Amino acid sequence: MTDSIRISFEFFPPKTPEGREKLYKTREALQAFNPEFFSVTYGAGGTTRETTADIVTNLRRDGISIAPHLSFGGDNEETVLGLLKQYQEAGVDRIVALRGDMPSGMGAVAQLVYANELVAFVRRHTGDHFHLEVAAYPEIHPESESYDDDIRYLKGKFEAGADSALTQYFYNPDAYFYFIDQCEKAGIDAPIIPGIMPITNFANLARFSRNCGAEIPRWLRHRMESYRDPEDIRKLGLEVVSDLCETLLEGGAPGLHFYTMNQVEPNTTILRNLGFGQ
Ligand code: FAD
Repeated sequence: MTDSIRISFEFFPPKTPEGREKLYKTREALQAFNPEFFSVTYGAGGTTRETTADIVTNLRRDGISIAPHLSFGGDNEETVLGLLKQYQEAGVDRIVALRGDMPSGMGAVAQLVYANELVAFVRRHTGDHFHLEVAAYPEIHPESESYDDDIRYLKGKFEAGADSALTQYFYNPDAYFYFIDQCEKAGIDAPIIPGIMPITNFANLARFSRNCGAEIPRWLRHRMESYRDPEDIRKLGLEVVSDLCETLLEGGAPGLHFYTMNQVEPNTTILRNLGFGQ
């Protein structure tokens, strides 16, 4: 079964030379799982413009299948076109197209451009060159007014030219399966790959989840908060996320997209638990 499953790994651009070294080592270790691609996030205010592009072009030079995340943020069309040209020339053939979130303090600087407009822009200027991934939200984007609106806007991203979607992370597989059903009913038949966030530092995860609208189930929160030993958190995290992935794949998910946090573990243990990389 593992052969037909699409695995991908997401990185963030590190700020230091040591962080960058670590990212390259992590990338090498994760290569054992024969991923379809790696991706590198992008600070929507342009805050990581150079670092994201630099890491992407470096990895591409080594022949790695790598997808930069991209959004307009406060940038003008020339800047985005410049990045597209740079990526095209480097041989990059996949982009994760997003509206993005402005870093706090930059909110008033510019109007955010919806992802469907970025997808249309990339298609207009580069034709079919890039495989375009977009974001999807099984537990619904925190700014969405309704479930149906969110699905309608996701459909709009596909109508603008997106090829597949990567989801926000979640810990309740039913949220994903219900979402896929609703997408199919709305006429979306493109692959929607679940995003997987392994659990390491639970306090950080709980804080981050509040902002991005990902729900941590009550039972999981209680169990995690009762632990004092980080080893107990690590073990339960491994068990919960391995089970989640197994349920998703058994239920027909076409792949898994790992938010790696630039770490080798626990991503590799989860994948081995599932029978990958044997
Ligand atoms: P959109 O699809 O544009 O949607 C944003 C909101 O507006 C939603 O509520 C939607 O329902 C609504 N909407 C969409 N289209 C329209 C429209 N045409 N008219 C009116 N309303 C509309 N953030 C970063 O800053 N950098 C990253 O690298 C990054 N990577 C990510 C990777 C993945 C896989 C995911 C799931 C998220 C990532 N994010 C990243 C977070 C993402 O940028 C935020 O969730 C952001 O708030 C929404 O981006 P989007 O592309 O989903 O926006």
